[in-house]
Amino acid sequence: MYHIRFHGRGGQGIKSAGRILGTAFFHEGFEVQDAPRYGAERRGAPIFAYVRAARKPINERGVITEPDLIIVADDSLMPIPAAGVLLGAHEQSVLLINTTEQASTWKERLRFPGTVIALPAAEEGKDRAELQYTGAVCTGAAARLAGVITRSALKQAILDELAPLGDRVIERNLANALDAYERMAEHAGCVTEGQGVPADPYHPPEWVEVPFEDARVSAPAIHAAATSVEVKTGLWRTLRPVIDHGRCKRCWWMCTTFCPDSAMSIDAEGYPEIDYDHCKGCLICSAQCHNHAIEAIPEHLAGTGKAGGGRP
Ligand code: SF4
Ligand code: SF4
Repeated sequence: MYHIRFHGRGGQGIKSAGRILGTAFFHEGFEVQDAPRYGAERRGAPIFAYVRAARKPINERGVITEPDLIIVADDSLMPIPAAGVLLGAHEQSVLLINTTEQASTWKERLRFPGTVIALPAAEEGKDRAELQYTGAVCTGAAARLAGVITRSALKQAILDELAPLGDRVIERNLANALDAYERMAEHAGCVTEGQGVPADPYHPPEWVEVPFEDARVSAPAIHAAATSVEVKTGLWRTLRPVIDHGRCKRCWWMCTTFCPDSAMSIDAEGYPEIDYDHCKGCLICSAQCHNHAIEAIPEHLAGTGKAGGGRP
């Protein structure tokens, strides 16, 4: 059975990537499970999706803990423990990273026990609002690494899954997925099927049994307000919105109203300000600003002087 886990950020098409790969396996005659894991309003947040594929019925359920293939759509997830990218990696695991760095660099940096393959990341586009179709790229590469999915099955799966999104989206995804499929030719079939996890030797984890209590104790609710301020969603950000006060017309209701995380406020002079501890980098504010006064710069370049933005 193939155990495959995709890791990426909300908005990169990771849910669709898992879905397309599952459908491609299905077209090749496999039994399939695929499911994403994410919460509400997760653009920019670490999310994952998993796919199981086997020639016989699949009895396993739940999150994949011993992956045969891990696909990482965004290498900035690697240092985030909560993303759990390396969970359960073993000597037969293959790690495919969408990155600008070498596979050998990642292998050494992570002390990864299995094989590491780099999938060269796309150049930074000029228009950051333009989608990179990263999920499709990862799907195409994953299909080739598995070695049992033909180009035509991959193509059919993309047509099946993306049909509601229209011809233009399908075309771009197809082109990117098939290109990645070809680029991974030298690694075709390098992923081996892992063993299914039998239920017999299952031992419950060393958890603490909590006795039944009054509902107010055993199912506590949080009644205090504003506790989410402790959750620093700014750690999710890969692109940083930077307000150019030279262009800003102080029509603050335009950008601040649309910020889904209430991470924008107004300063004493009427200019919007961004709370970077809680700005997750969704760039909705940038899209709403009709004066193009909010630029998006890569987070890793913020403060290095290598990217524009900021107060004149
Ligand atoms: S919408 Fe643009 S111009 Fe208007 S306040 Fe926001 S940043 Fe400034
Ligand atoms: S400040 Fe802009 S980029 Fe940040 S969370 Fe709000 S809308 Fe998204």
